[in-house]
Amino acid sequence: MLKKGVRLSVFLAVYVSFSLAFHQGPLINWLDAIVDFSSLSGLLAFLFIECLSILLWVLLLTLMFFISIKFGKLIAITLLILNATATFWMSSLGIVINQELIASLFFTDYSEASEFLNPDYLIHLFIFGLIPSVLVVLIPIKPITRIRLVLYPVGSAVMLAAITSLNPNLTDWVDDNGAYLGSRLLPWSYIGKTIGYAQDMRHGYYSRYYGGFAQLPDGTIVDDEPGLVVLVIGESSRAASYSYYGYERPINQATQKVGYIALPKSKSCSTNTMITTGCILSAKGRADWREDATEPLPSYLYRLGIKTFVRTNNTEMPRLNVGNYQTSTQLANVCDTKACMDYNVLKCDQAFCVERYFDNMLLANMDPILETAKSEKVFLLLHFRGSHGPNYSDRSPKVFAPFTPICDAHVTQCDLGALVNSYDNSTMFTDKTLAALAQILNGEDGLSSVVLYLSDHGQSLGENDNYMHGAPLKEAPDEQLEIPFLIWMSDTFKQSQDISSIKTKTIAAQDATFHSVLGALNVVGGPYLAERDIFYAD
Ligand SMILES: [Zn+2]
Repeated sequence: MLKKGVRLSVFLAVYVSFSLAFHQGPLINWLDAIVDFSSLSGLLAFLFIECLSILLWVLLLTLMFFISIKFGKLIAITLLILNATATFWMSSLGIVINQELIASLFFTDYSEASEFLNPDYLIHLFIFGLIPSVLVVLIPIKPITRIRLVLYPVGSAVMLAAITSLNPNLTDWVDDNGAYLGSRLLPWSYIGKTIGYAQDMRHGYYSRYYGGFAQLPDGTIVDDEPGLVVLVIGESSRAASYSYYGYERPINQATQKVGYIALPKSKSCSTNTMITTGCILSAKGRADWREDATEPLPSYLYRLGIKTFVRTNNTEMPRLNVGNYQTSTQLANVCDTKACMDYNVLKCDQAFCVERYFDNMLLANMDPILETAKSEKVFLLLHFRGSHGPNYSDRSPKVFAPFTPICDAHVTQCDLGALVNSYDNSTMFTDKTLAALAQILNGEDGLSSVVLYLSDHGQSLGENDNYMHGAPLKEAPDEQLEIPFLIWMSDTFKQSQDISSIKTKTIAAQDATFHSVLGALNVVGGPYLAERDIFYAD
């Protein structure tokens, strides 16, 4: 029977069953944590996802077979190899396939390619990728007329439309969890993220975040005094909602208590995360996005030989070339202190919930950084998820809600008061995390350390019916542009600097960060501008 070939329907049934059985481990693990399989709703959710997956597989493969049987087989084999590879690394490292991961595969900077060739992976690839691929090559598929063949993708598309429209609740849930689900559903995760990445590469301004940067002229590291400079980039945190700048709620009580000081609020270079993050890390500050891209701050410091660590709970950072780059998902694997464990236990009160790590996960396992900073200069960049909208209630733990009632439904279903409460809870949680960071640094006797915190842009919370951010610069309201700028300094750092004039410095935060970090590390010359360094005493 096999020599004569198998019918396409049999081939598809075996192929898709194999993929569902052996390439779904990471998806099942994620679902197991967030879906209660013992409940009917949980089982239905699982079956729904499986139906979507099967229909999408049939749609994809039969479109390829429509071009030619050989081409269809080539794609089937390629996906088997990629799925086996992705399954192994997702299961063993706990990584998910997002656009940053795809980007890093093209521009490896935090994982060396050689680390991926270990014996366990090769055995896994042999069993779950190569053997089934050989079978796909050897077993012929019986000829099928093109008219009959076209019924497969058409039928799958019709059934997809039918089951999604007949199950609006489950479709909404899949939509809500799209980012999480889409990162684990093979092969859609890497196909979708690669298409997204390719679009970003070609799309105007953003292309430079994936292309090359002009190298900055080399500066000079003036001394070898050890110490740690931390730059924290916040998300959607507006000055209008900070008590430092007159807001009546005690949002900033935690940072005020540990000795942060606020510099004057200032305007961001844009209301778009990717552009503003670029400005913050650029020597040109707020003018960055209007000019050709130059090396971002972490890459520049790393190239000069300064130990540089980057930790992110957010997205849309320029491409960096640094020695140590970790996401909150990776940090969760090394989290064993209260600072990062608090609030981050995955817990669901209903059958459905979503996975998330709060920003305090970025404080996991700080010891290697602190130890290094005792003997040499270290730069640490933390990229917070902050008050990323629209669901602000997801940005702070449910048990941390000083302001109630919160907006726990979709934002469009909440009144303005609840929305503001949820937003304020998120900024207050950011404040608490910043205070915890300072406490960790303060616990290191004699360590010269400094924290600079600023937001990427502000946020509208219903003023003149504006919400969120992203308004064109010319029309953007102040709420979307004005950002906070906070500083914390250890006693040792204060003793080493003339800090008397810091408070009165009026350099816009996004113009100051690059040069102030260099000033704090005493790296002068090259791109350094003293007039933009808040630590520079005239
Ligand atoms: Zn943003």
